[in-house]
Amino acid sequence: MQEKGTISIHTENIFPIIKKFLYSDNEIFLRELVSNAVDATQKVKRLASLGQYSGELGNLQVEVSFDEKAKTITISDNGLGMTADEIKKYINQIAFSGATEFMEKFKEAKDANEIIGRFGLGFYSAFMVADEVEIDTLSYQEGAEPAHWTCDGSTEFEISTGKRTTRGTDIILHINAESEEFLSKYKLQEILDKYAKFLPVPIKFGTNTEQEPDGEDADGKPKTKDVEVDNIINDTNPIWTKQPSELKDEDYLNFYKELYPFSEEPLFWIHLNVDYPFNLTGVLYFPKVKNDFEFQKNKIKLFSRQVFITDEVKDIVPEFLMLLHGVIDSPDIPLNVSRSFLQADSNVKKINSYITKKVADKLSDLFKADRAGYEEKWSDIGLFVKYGIISEDKFYDKAKDFVLLTSTQDKKNYTLDEYKDKVKDAQTDKDGQLVYIYTNDPAKQDAFIQSANKKGYDVLLMNSPIDNHFISHLEQKLEKTSLKRVDADVADKLIKKDDAPAHVLTEEQSTQVKTIFDTAINKPAYKVELESLNPDELPVTVTMDEFMRRMKDMAAMGGGM
Ligand code: ADP
Ligand code: MG
Repeated sequence: MQEKGTISIHTENIFPIIKKFLYSDNEIFLRELVSNAVDATQKVKRLASLGQYSGELGNLQVEVSFDEKAKTITISDNGLGMTADEIKKYINQIAFSGATEFMEKFKEAKDANEIIGRFGLGFYSAFMVADEVEIDTLSYQEGAEPAHWTCDGSTEFEISTGKRTTRGTDIILHINAESEEFLSKYKLQEILDKYAKFLPVPIKFGTNTEQEPDGEDADGKPKTKDVEVDNIINDTNPIWTKQPSELKDEDYLNFYKELYPFSEEPLFWIHLNVDYPFNLTGVLYFPKVKNDFEFQKNKIKLFSRQVFITDEVKDIVPEFLMLLHGVIDSPDIPLNVSRSFLQADSNVKKINSYITKKVADKLSDLFKADRAGYEEKWSDIGLFVKYGIISEDKFYDKAKDFVLLTSTQDKKNYTLDEYKDKVKDAQTDKDGQLVYIYTNDPAKQDAFIQSANKKGYDVLLMNSPIDNHFISHLEQKLEKTSLKRVDADVADKLIKKDDAPAHVLTEEQSTQVKTIFDTAINKPAYKVELESLNPDELPVTVTMDEFMRRMKDMAAMGGGM
């Protein structure tokens, strides 16, 4: 058998254009060819289970190998194989039409990086790194002839009788001069680790040497011998494909370690598992947040049917959860679209709110089941919760019951409702308006805090980087409540509660003591106040008027005033 033909595509010179398009990401050829090989093994398994194939399935596996001298990379599988007619249909028509379609879609796109997931062109991706591709294949069908196809990336192909004697397919790439970097064990291993680490069928890449017991030597000591074992690069059953009920905490922690070897243990995790109205599985971890959290962003890996796609999940995971780690796997996220299209995709929108809901539910469960444990983690969780409250109303609706406010007085944490109950008697003005007082720098503002405390007011600790936004958000959300920073002006104006302890000095004595301080300080910008004679409290406070203080700060900064 020998046949030549022309692949019917519209663009004669599609190859150089695509090459230019995807050049920066040409390593995905391996992802595409290995996933095709995996698909082929899964298809033959399905045919067997449907009773449409009765031969031996054998040990279903994909093998990647290379030959530095011949400059070839080969991807072999024992999947369903193809007949010559199938090659014509699936490779000449489908694979090449995929490439044409891609060009149609993206010929206007100025920047190929705009395209999510580094859309693979499937089989055609091979031509990014090879100037000739061969297929050697034998179909599972009874009496099938082995077939051989070769093509140099132009629209010309050649089909002849192949030499495979067992079911399956070899794809042989003749690596082009610019892509010789791929002819390296290290490089291929790296790409396989990135894209194929969790594929559902064993992927063999070379062998490893291991030691095996080998009887005893003359002195009766155990001997070992070197044995060659297949180097299987992947874990075919990663935890996100399993049911949560099959898994222990240890499994989740081990998987985390596998993904992020140098990280501290995560705080907790969420196992995602839905199949309607979209299909999504995954495990998301809450990491211990460090100060340099910009660095910890973009740690979620996106998979599609266990094939790694990207760790650029910005448009799929809500912005406030970008600090989470872990994996999500969904065949329903379109990968061959631009950013703006992705954001508008209805599945992506649903996935986004599903993740938000799952995170809120998990936090709520933790809070209800073990409040003490939750409070212990609050310094780490707080950032997510507050960020979520600021960015998503739907999240606030749930989070309002588990966001915590910390009092500087008793150092306890309160929910919004609890805090309202705690302070509502002392901190409500005549119009029923609640006043919450907070400090963002308890050491510097200590005098004001004590002064507010003395007037019966509690002072909240709000010193995380996100608290400024959080405070203004709370003010919009909480009814009839204002939040004020405890500076000199505010502390001054707080109305003293009736039952607060009165000064024991007479008015005349007070004036005398005040005068002593005023004379000693002798600066009009400072204000002296007698506070208390209680030995545990500050007897006198000397403060600078808030306006004067700011002026002074500005002057110090060279603010030109
Ligand atoms: P896709 O995988 O999205 O269908 P590809 O361009 O990657 O598109 O592949 C085109 C078709 O070629 C596949 O659908 C399959 O029918 C066939 N094919 C590719 N590789 C193999 C293989 N290793 N074994 C059997 N068939 C294959
Ligand atoms: Mg494919």
